[in-house]
Amino acid sequence: MIIDRIEAILVDVPTTRPHKLAFATVAEQNYVIVRVFADGAMGIGEAATIGGPRWGEESTEGIKATIDGYIAPVLIGQNARNLNAIETRVAQAVRGNAFARAAVVMAVHDLVARASGVSVAELLGGAQTQSLELIWTLASGDTDRDIAEGEEMLENRRHRHFKIKIGFGDAERDTTHAVKLAHAFAGRASIRVDLNQAWDEPTACRLLPKLAGAGVVLVEQPLPRWNVEGMARLSATATGTVIMADEGVASCHDALAHVRLRAADAFALKVTKSGGYAETRRVAAIADAAGVGLYGGCMLETGVGTAGYLQLFATFSHLAWACELFGPRLLQHDIIATPLAMHDFAIHLPKGPGTGVTIDPDKFDFYRRDRGRPSRKAG
Ligand SMILES: [Mg+2]
Repeated sequence: MIIDRIEAILVDVPTTRPHKLAFATVAEQNYVIVRVFADGAMGIGEAATIGGPRWGEESTEGIKATIDGYIAPVLIGQNARNLNAIETRVAQAVRGNAFARAAVVMAVHDLVARASGVSVAELLGGAQTQSLELIWTLASGDTDRDIAEGEEMLENRRHRHFKIKIGFGDAERDTTHAVKLAHAFAGRASIRVDLNQAWDEPTACRLLPKLAGAGVVLVEQPLPRWNVEGMARLSATATGTVIMADEGVASCHDALAHVRLRAADAFALKVTKSGGYAETRRVAAIADAAGVGLYGGCMLETGVGTAGYLQLFATFSHLAWACELFGPRLLQHDIIATPLAMHDFAIHLPKGPGTGVTIDPDKFDFYRRDRGRPSRKAG
């Protein structure tokens, strides 16, 4: 099964509402959809960025350039079925650039799984669950709007775990916003808070107990990703809430450093930040070995990337902190033909080979950037 062509296509899809994070306000999500061809068959993968090179170093434009110029040339002519060698070859050809590498790895897995008539989860050893509890992010930036949105999600049995995004404004005001939300949903939904690296250590020391006191069960990446020792000091202090690392834990080496210092009680896994399936599994294995809880993160993918993540997450025995694979729900339109099933507080593993989803050609063509739609960058 010799790879003969790889395409990287830029796609931009507007969100249903502004998504306000510590580092950007997103009105449109930017994607690179990767298509890998071999023996007349095709596999699809995706890299999503949130606000371009703001969450991490990579932009969609850079991801496409890396795939076209550096990854495709080393994979053309290679046997797609040698999945371990494919992932190693890509990692040796391109340093860093984890999102570009992951999108291609995802597509090659999809290709091989489809050609073999199995799901990507089966290719990875088999799913251990058919559904994963699905959290929702309250991130409009407006307390009343977030409460109304959360009530609607509970009423429709869509989500009963909420992540609140703060870190974009005054730390005291942000904390008050999160505390109000925690009180509003007390006893009915679990509340987590994601700082996206926004606070320094003294601010986190001062305000984490307030969040914990309001019932916030988990605080995600309160400190900058380089401050692993600071995360360890926060974790060692009885703050009353779980500390989770996200931006700080991408590679297995990051995971090991966090475990050695006991810098986090939980790790957020993301296939793209870790550069593919193999490295994400190594991060998860280190977490398991250290008794660190797993969380299925996302970068607000379309159905393509969401399904790619879901196939891996379903192979784990347990995600202690559930997953946030709700990306398609935040988009005005998804680009896949049949939407992923999200109901009864969970996302459900699709049936069928590969990632279990296919692209809707009309929607895909409409949102392709090279078809002339202007891109609206995050502010
Ligand atoms: Mg995060």
